[in-house]
Amino acid sequence: MKYVRIQFPGGPRFGIIDGDTVRLIEGSPFGSLVMTDFVVPLAGAKLLSPCEPSKGVCIGLNYRDHAEEFKLPIPTEPVVFLKPSTSVNDPQEGIVFPPQCKRLDYEAELAIVIGKTAKNVEESDVHEYILGYTCANDVTARDLQPKQGQWTVAKSFDTFMPLGPFITDEVDPDHLDIESRVNGKTMQHSNTSNLIFKPAFLVSYLSKVMTLLPGDVILTGTPGGISGMQVGDQVDIVIEGIGTLTNTIVAP
Ligand code: MG
Repeated sequence: MKYVRIQFPGGPRFGIIDGDTVRLIEGSPFGSLVMTDFVVPLAGAKLLSPCEPSKGVCIGLNYRDHAEEFKLPIPTEPVVFLKPSTSVNDPQEGIVFPPQCKRLDYEAELAIVIGKTAKNVEESDVHEYILGYTCANDVTARDLQPKQGQWTVAKSFDTFMPLGPFITDEVDPDHLDIESRVNGKTMQHSNTSNLIFKPAFLVSYLSKVMTLLPGDVILTGTPGGISGMQVGDQVDIVIEGIGTLTNTIVAP
């Protein structure tokens, strides 16, 4: 299934992609859901982030070439940081270039979407806790990262975690082409087969640290090829079998 969340009169609604339409559901994919007969065209729908995470749990340096471009050793243990719920952004919305930042980077990432509360889950059981996968952009105020000594400020501005456009459970997360484009030009291109720590391992590992709640996302890290963006740029995160997450950089 491909799940989507759209703006609808009366408030956001979840739906399921059915060809070029969205079939609305009662309830949500994170609890019980009932299909309705109500269908709207996908083309005209205002897409929202497909989930509302309580936290974005992010993995740093999880592609070998990205660690190398920073001249950092290949991690032997996942490097974990958080993005706050307030950094979530919708498809097609603006990413705000903060005035205190000189260099604003994209980071194409496969996001794991947690479907039900996960605590101390073994790797062999994680499939029961994963709703599916979506595209994420781990937007980063790069010049603020070394200044701070740790990553919270650089990663946490409002609008810095675009998610979408869909959540799908129809892909193999270990073998997906992943790409970022700025104004149509490919900037990063890799495959999730190059991840150092794999999605199933990460869900288990993190569930033994913190309770993962329905809708929480795990951003699995970005491949090499990062660079900066300017106000007016369009950035696309493209993942095979999921779709394209598009945002534009806007002035504060
Ligand atoms: Mg990242």
